[in-house]
Amino acid sequence: MNKPIGRIAGKVAIVTGGASGIGEETAVRFAEEGAAVCVADIDEENGLRVVERISELDGRAEFIKTDVSESFQIKNLIQKTEETFGRLDILHNNAIWFRHGSALDLEEGDWDKTLDSGLKSSYISAKYGIPVMRKNGGGAIVNTASVHSLVSFETCTAYDAAKAGLLGLTRTLAIDFGPDIRVNAVLPGAILTPLWDNLEVPDDERQRYAELVPAKRLGLGRDVANAVLYLASDEASFVTGTSLVVDGGLLCRTD
Ligand code: NAD
Repeated sequence: MNKPIGRIAGKVAIVTGGASGIGEETAVRFAEEGAAVCVADIDEENGLRVVERISELDGRAEFIKTDVSESFQIKNLIQKTEETFGRLDILHNNAIWFRHGSALDLEEGDWDKTLDSGLKSSYISAKYGIPVMRKNGGGAIVNTASVHSLVSFETCTAYDAAKAGLLGLTRTLAIDFGPDIRVNAVLPGAILTPLWDNLEVPDDERQRYAELVPAKRLGLGRDVANAVLYLASDEASFVTGTSLVVDGGLLCRTD
């Protein structure tokens, strides 16, 4: 029998927020390295586009419409993934919905939805995903945190709380579920994705970030996807409970 080819060949992965940006590139990267991928997102049109992109690479993927701010939808995602592909090995918790606002301006409902989609979702996916992963010897969880996990930015009240909280959750999960379940966080810096268009980040602001970082460019979704792939693969078998910053050196700066 031919041995499957790729760094995560034969594995099954879920990527939330897989219809765009970092999640899209991670889903594609996982498929390129031999995994079957469940693309989970609220955006069906782009989710199906990513599945098509993976099919064109001869990869295997399914779209499962999922709002990660709803616990029952995450439970459903994990059940459907197991039904479709027979197992679960890799969970990339990447989606978040958020609104900016100082503590005085932010609506309580927006705080709740940001924390539900960006932090509670990782706890829920661990709760329902780990037992499925353990049926086949364990697996790897990668949470998309942010440089906002380590430094804060004005009016990012709920976002920064969610991203900082993810690091604590990552460590606790790593302690509670090792050695067969590894749990790590990736911390992107300024990564040029459709998010920047949605946030209407002006061109001069983009340019300023590109000039600020030692790498002298904005990051790409694939830069982060490569780091997620490493953490998800057996190459990182001695790496758990930690954070990998992918920011082109942004956090080296103090100005
Ligand atoms: P993006 O906007 O390109 O993609 C985000 C995807 O998440 C979209 O497809 C969207 O539909 C989906 N999504 C939003 N709310 C959802 C929900 N409730 N349930 C399911 N799917 C949902 O954004 P991106 O830049 O690729 O960001 C991905 C992750 O990376 C986020 O966690 C973000 O905080 C983090 N991040 C991004 C940057 C950056 O500069 N782009 C920097 C640091 C961290």
